[in-house]
Amino acid sequence: MASDLAASKITPGVLDAIFNDPERRATDFPVPVCQCVQIKPLASQGNGAERYRVVLSDTKNFVQSMLATGANHFIHDQKLKKGSLVRLKQFQANALKGKKILVIMDIDVLEEFGEPEKIGDPQALKMKDEEEDVKPAPGAVSGAGFYGNKPAQQPAAAERSIPTRTGPSSSAAHGNIYPIEALSPYAHKWTIKARVSNKSEIRTWHKQSGEGKLFSVNLLDESGEIKATGFNEQCDQLYDLFQEGSVYYISSPCRVQLAKKQFTNLPNDYELTFDRETQVEKAEDQENVPQVRFNFTNIANLQTVEKDTTIDIIGVLKEVADVNQIVSKSTSKPYDKRELTLVDDSDFSVRLTIWGKTATAFDAQPESIVAFKGAKVSDFGGRSLSLLSSGSMSLDPDIPEAHKLRGWYDTHGRSNTFASHSGMASAGAAGGRQDPVMSIAKVYEDNLGMSESTDYFSTKATIVYIKQENFAYPACLSEGCNKKVTDMGDGTWRCEKCDISHPKPEYRYIMSLNVNDHTGQLWLSCFDDVGRLVMGMSADQLMALKDSDDPAAGRAFEEANCKTMLFKCRAKMDSFQDQQRVRYQVTGASPVNYTNEAQKLAELIKLYNI
Ligand SMILES: [Zn+2]
Repeated sequence: MASDLAASKITPGVLDAIFNDPERRATDFPVPVCQCVQIKPLASQGNGAERYRVVLSDTKNFVQSMLATGANHFIHDQKLKKGSLVRLKQFQANALKGKKILVIMDIDVLEEFGEPEKIGDPQALKMKDEEEDVKPAPGAVSGAGFYGNKPAQQPAAAERSIPTRTGPSSSAAHGNIYPIEALSPYAHKWTIKARVSNKSEIRTWHKQSGEGKLFSVNLLDESGEIKATGFNEQCDQLYDLFQEGSVYYISSPCRVQLAKKQFTNLPNDYELTFDRETQVEKAEDQENVPQVRFNFTNIANLQTVEKDTTIDIIGVLKEVADVNQIVSKSTSKPYDKRELTLVDDSDFSVRLTIWGKTATAFDAQPESIVAFKGAKVSDFGGRSLSLLSSGSMSLDPDIPEAHKLRGWYDTHGRSNTFASHSGMASAGAAGGRQDPVMSIAKVYEDNLGMSESTDYFSTKATIVYIKQENFAYPACLSEGCNKKVTDMGDGTWRCEKCDISHPKPEYRYIMSLNVNDHTGQLWLSCFDDVGRLVMGMSADQLMALKDSDDPAAGRAFEEANCKTMLFKCRAKMDSFQDQQRVRYQVTGASPVNYTNEAQKLAELIKLYNI
């Protein structure tokens, strides 16, 4: 039977050895083969990273495993399926958040065995000592030195010997290289070999508690990418040593902690903080570590990308605007910015904003090819892009996509006309305008509506009070005229503008709503369309109920109370009897879509790693 053949290929007992007896694993099970008995996508991370949890069985035991993102292609290509036999090439036994997890960096899928049913009756793996802080037991993690491609450089048992920091610095001292993907707070002694894919500027802060500075680098190897930050002394020591694009050995002690997802666009769960003792050494061998990896979206396809997604983009630089300074509403700090226009062979153009020193130091000539990693998609002007501070820019990169664009541009791109996304702005009250969702406190904090210009925002709030006096006015019935009409006392209503009298007016809402959220309260004005949504009937109907002293009128107001809605608003300075005040006008409202709202909140909570 085919499954007997498959069963004979699997190495029973290997999972126990990996976690409980790594030395025996190296001698007795040099080529671990397991069966994949379950594959589950994990709920998407805050940054949209895709993760798969896999259960592996060696027929005796099963264990939860996490597929490194670099191995996701086995799932995309439908190579790894439930039932598949896999040969483990690079892996790391880890204790993540108190759970024992096998992190799988690289595998071979033994496709010739198909996908047999679960073989044997595997039991959950027991740890030798559940209380013990399981030290990471690296598998075949010595860089490229795994069997298959190249012979291992050292006998397998020696892989566990860990080089000391104090030893002479040579590449031999870096024999035990960890893949970035395998770093965790439980990995005590490690060295990574990684390329700096991005280096930040030095940032300083001044607070009551003191002042300081920091910088960060993104580090990349073939297993993944991680952010590392250096504060104060480490900032002085290491800032000049790191160069974007160069490869370094970085060795513990160096703090590994949960990533603050709100400050990074990397898919790693962890990040590093350089320690006084952290060793950083430029690698003699600058090859063999991947260059910055791009996952380009073409410009036409931006239309299908959701707002706030982080993407990579490459294009021909069509226009370069001058540097502009803007003052942030939330921090009152000035920012330098520059707008670029990019085009590509999808015949679309898009605007991309760069910030800070990247903006002031920008000196690429129009018609250069530029690639951006880590640009945020906004729906301003249909679709536009903003380079994140963690993002990076490459000028005329030596990659196939750049050569292809060069060829296209030189042959016919130069004379093309390009479509922009602004023509396709989504409909709706705000017409595709950037319309940040804010809490009520933030609306006040940012002084919205206090300046010359009009500000726009959305807020999710609950109606707590509706003014019942003057909730509607009598309006002209003429097509397109909403002017107030005057009761002439003779049973007619006169419109000054149209210069006619109507036998009755049409009542239209002009409501004042008091809305609250967890941060404060706000008075909103709304017109007829929003009033109908709030009250669930026309102003004419409500006025009729009120005029006939029908208790249904009071009930309608009660029912409208406590409704939670998403309000699109405009904040503008208003002069009324020499008094200046900000008026918040609702331009559109919609009931809360609880499914969407819950998903948004779940994403937000994830950013805090609670
Ligand atoms: Zn009129």
